[in-house]
Parts: sequence; C-alpha cells; structure tokens
Amino acid sequence: MAERDGPPNRRPADVPSIAEKGQPLAGREAEFAHLNKHLRACFVCKLIKATAQFMDSGCDNCRWMDMSDMESLEQCTTTNFSGLMTLMEPPTSWVAKWTHTSKCVPGCYALSINEEMPRRLQESLENRGVRMRR
Ligand SMILES: [Zn+2]
Repeated sequence: MAERDGPPNRRPADVPSIAEKGQPLAGREAEFAHLNKHLRACFVCKLIKATAQFMDSGCDNCRWMDMSDMESLEQCTTTNFSGLMTLMEPPTSWVAKWTHTSKCVPGCYALSINEEMPRRLQESLENRGVRMRR
C-alpha cells in the first residue's frame, strides 16, 4: 500500500495506466482500446484504475475495501462499465456535483456501471450504513 498524506480528497488517484518492467507501454500497446481491457471501475465510487493499480493501492475513495488479491478485487470492481470522466477539482466541479462525486479524490471515473453489485459487497455496505444511489 502506498503511503497516504494530506486530506483524503486532495491527493489524486493514479491515472489508469499499465507498464511492463517499470516502463510505460509504447505504440499500439499504449492505445486506449488496448489499455481499456485492463481497466476496472470500483462498484461503490466508480473510480477507474488498472487492475495492477487497484491491487497495489486499493480504491482511493473506499479505503475500507480489501483489494489485495484477485478474488477480493473482483468483488469490489468490474470491467463492465461505460463512459469515462476525469475530475480535477471535485469540490468545485459542477460535473462532480451533478454526479455526486464532490467528496471523491481527483481521478478518472466511469459514468455508469453496467452490472449488479455482488451480494457480499451489498451486505458489507448495508452493515456500514451506506446507501447506494441507483
Ligand atoms: Zn471506490
């Protein structure tokens, strides 16, 4: 897990990207259509990151969710999302206000999740008193 400093909504989330041997991909491998196959969105806040980024540092908004292994990552995130928006300053953005993401970290977000949230995650949210907008 990466070290976290400062107020929770000040530090931007990682920009979705994939790298091999520490080097960013180049050419066709770096094109968005290819990269998109490696992207996942958080079921709760819709933050988009690459699979490896979620496994490395979890969701920047939903710190309580464990994403350290592939099984728990698949319970908390999905590849079945559509649309993408980038939030730079969520507290002052009208888009963030419209999409109820004003308190989220700056980052890339899905416009919609096209899949039901896993039952286990729904129960976990209910136990935490979190109500999801539909
Ligand atoms: Zn999240």
